[in-house]
Amino acid sequence: MSSSYKLVDRSRCPNGTRIRIGDSEIGGDEFVVAAGPCAVESPDQMMQASTGVAFAGARILRGGAFKPRTSPYAFQGMGEEGLQLLAEAGRFAGLPTITEALSTEDVQLVARYSDVLQVGARNMQNFALLKAVGAIDKPVLLKRGLSATVDELLMAAEYIVLQGNSRVILCERGIRTFETATRNTIDLNAVALLKQITHLPVVVDPSHGTGRRDLIAPISRAAAAVGADGLLIEVHPTPDVALCDGAQSITPSAFAEIMRDLAASLPVAGRHLAIGRSGEDGLALKSHRDRIDSIDEALLRLLCERARVAARIGSIKRRNGEPIRSTERERIVLDRAIRQSGGTLPPEAISRLFQAIISETRLVQAPTDAREVNHAG
Ligand code: PEP
Ligand code: MN
Repeated sequence: MSSSYKLVDRSRCPNGTRIRIGDSEIGGDEFVVAAGPCAVESPDQMMQASTGVAFAGARILRGGAFKPRTSPYAFQGMGEEGLQLLAEAGRFAGLPTITEALSTEDVQLVARYSDVLQVGARNMQNFALLKAVGAIDKPVLLKRGLSATVDELLMAAEYIVLQGNSRVILCERGIRTFETATRNTIDLNAVALLKQITHLPVVVDPSHGTGRRDLIAPISRAAAAVGADGLLIEVHPTPDVALCDGAQSITPSAFAEIMRDLAASLPVAGRHLAIGRSGEDGLALKSHRDRIDSIDEALLRLLCERARVAARIGSIKRRNGEPIRSTERERIVLDRAIRQSGGTLPPEAISRLFQAIISETRLVQAPTDAREVNHAG
């Protein structure tokens, strides 16, 4: 691989670039999800889509007004009227927006309406367009070309940054391979590699990457696991009648389920699903409670798994004739937990919680001894 990209090389910013969009920040601890229909179709469709994805926790609203279609006879998008509907829906739902600029002539117009500009896969090497979005003062989401190498993607990003716009987000949206079972093949290698070699944030688009709505959930999970900074997902209130990409679009309720799953799985890897500051109404409360339910389920699974491993340790100790309780080990576990706290829970709370976990573990490791102790007590 050539190292001729200079500005986007990770050595330029070893901790990674963070880009603020609305009230979230992409590229740091937050995992940011953009969602909405492939194409803006009508006011009603945009209202339903935007409120649905906002309720589920999306932090950016997507919707194409200028559509790059393979067939010239396919729906080409609503143009400026589509931009207006997207902006209105975004304002209504309290979300910043992202939409594609197809050509250099669109850039100023799109930038007037949208918070983030998308350069589509088919335009990844449209150098005039790259220079044009490099000259504006808005974040750019750059999609990897259909058959572009990682090096070519980074060189395309370099074009944008060289013009003075350093707010570039890369997007893996699947590449062409010999495989025809899915629309494209999501290159998760590239996501993991990009996180090492460039400081730019990287998101995954499982919708175009798979072309199948039944694969959006597992591939979203995989993207988060491999270190992506976020997702771009096509969500439509009625996917079966969508004017564009219906087969890969999911309903707002299917989207909400993916978001609940991410809310619980991301913290294990040290990330968290971005939470908006706005929307303190009843709907938001329900959405947050759904997240809590999902986190509680994950917490229970982890606690049970911890107990299962602890039980194995107990049986090894018994076989070796060692005492079950090691106060020194308990101290190490407790101290580490307290040291690693620093989030919302104060150290005293972590200490109380871990003392409970440690003593319950002791019961699992020595069930009979514990019962005797209880009798004695
Ligand atoms: C899109 O996001 O709707 C789109 C056209 O994507 P891509 O450029 O990745 O095909
Ligand atoms: Mn699409």
